[in-house]
Amino acid sequence: MEQTKFLLAEEEIPKAWYNIQADLPTPLDPPLNPATKEPIGPEALAPIFPMELIKQEVSRERWIPIPEEVRDVYRLWRPTPLYRARRLEKALKTPAKIYYKWEGVSPPGSHKPNTAVAQAYYNMKEGVTRLTTETGAGQWGSALAFGTLLFGLKCTIYMVKVSYEQKPYRRILMETWGAECIPSPSERTQYGRRVLQDDPKCPGSLGIAISEAIEDAATHEDTKYSLGSVLNHVLLHQTVVGLEAKKQLEVIGDYPDVVFGCVGGGSNFSGLVFPFLADKLTGKKPELRAVSCEPKACPTLTKGPYMYDFGDAAATTPLLKMYTLGHTFVPPPIHSGGLRYHGDAPLLCKLTHEGYMEAAAYHQNEVFKAAQIFAQAEGFVVAPETAHAVKGVIDEALRCKKTGEAKVILFNNSGHGHFDLRAYEEYLTGKLIDYEYPAELVKEALAKVPKV
Ligand SMILES: *Cc1c(COP(=O)(O)O)cnc(C)c1O
Repeated sequence: MEQTKFLLAEEEIPKAWYNIQADLPTPLDPPLNPATKEPIGPEALAPIFPMELIKQEVSRERWIPIPEEVRDVYRLWRPTPLYRARRLEKALKTPAKIYYKWEGVSPPGSHKPNTAVAQAYYNMKEGVTRLTTETGAGQWGSALAFGTLLFGLKCTIYMVKVSYEQKPYRRILMETWGAECIPSPSERTQYGRRVLQDDPKCPGSLGIAISEAIEDAATHEDTKYSLGSVLNHVLLHQTVVGLEAKKQLEVIGDYPDVVFGCVGGGSNFSGLVFPFLADKLTGKKPELRAVSCEPKACPTLTKGPYMYDFGDAAATTPLLKMYTLGHTFVPPPIHSGGLRYHGDAPLLCKLTHEGYMEAAAYHQNEVFKAAQIFAQAEGFVVAPETAHAVKGVIDEALRCKKTGEAKVILFNNSGHGHFDLRAYEEYLTGKLIDYEYPAELVKEALAKVPKV
């Protein structure tokens, strides 16, 4: 019998996160104040984030210790298993070895609690009593509801109204964990009221929900805001995934030739790949490839320009240097809600811009087809977001079949798709739409990006 699942003991949960900022050839372009176009200082972020997270955001220390209280919560589901996808390899008749890190075993069912738990902890330590955030389909909202619960904080989640109405299960999950879930746009904030005045039937968007959550935090003394992706400290917390995977592969005696991950804001993929990319940045593994997989309907990395833009639709955040489709761009309604963000993490964007990482984009139907091949071989029904990475992996494995190369392929299986079965049903019944790249809408949105 050949081993399928590679496990680590609880004691082997990493004791420090890996900060790739220590190994960048040149420092990250700083966030800018939109009014002055000057770099912002930490004090600008203090109304909405706790000091420890602001420090982590700009730290150039290579290792940031993981507090014991956070490691203790991680024990609920970490270390996560690393799988060798033997049945998928057989089904594809590929000489490639395929490994995946399975993050769907966490209570909320994705990688997101890796940072939600850490963020809740640091806020609690600094006396914050309530966190606000936004959520689309509810994956981030449910992760933060879970994280805040464990450290005794209240949690207010602005959920995009169409999702609130059409996707009740994650809302129920958030409420079960004790969070308050509000359909956005709402009457709770000045911005929400303004949006509703202009359009009482507004279905909401992630950008609007972000603006409401930030306003709520900025206008309440005991309250801070929490973001589930994009920022440096979020990517930092996710490196537990890659650090564990590296250890697991070391035990096996393998090292990846190519690493895949789906990219919405960039946190799950960065979390897996940064500890490996460290070896490329320091010249130890110059051949290592890292491929971001994104939707053709929201192709930030493959089509967007690399420039400064706002992080939210209401243009309230500092300007971030990233690949962007424009902060006012509203992507077509694909099922991968977690991949419908107009920008990407500045760290991942910089590494892509400098050629250390690459990107590929796929249509919905080919992505779900890949997810079905995976489900029939490996059993796990993955999240629609994750399915983009699966598509990239299957294509690579089939290339290996043609060339006869026994490459080692690794990907982040970022979450399960049990709350996304409606999307699978649409795929299975031929109702899924492949949206072409909305070039005109992107052009319009890019025209509204401020000049720096
Ligand atoms: C949110 C989410 C994503 C996309 O977010 P990233 O920050 O790019 O990781 C991917 N997969 C799953 C399962 C998610 O919940």
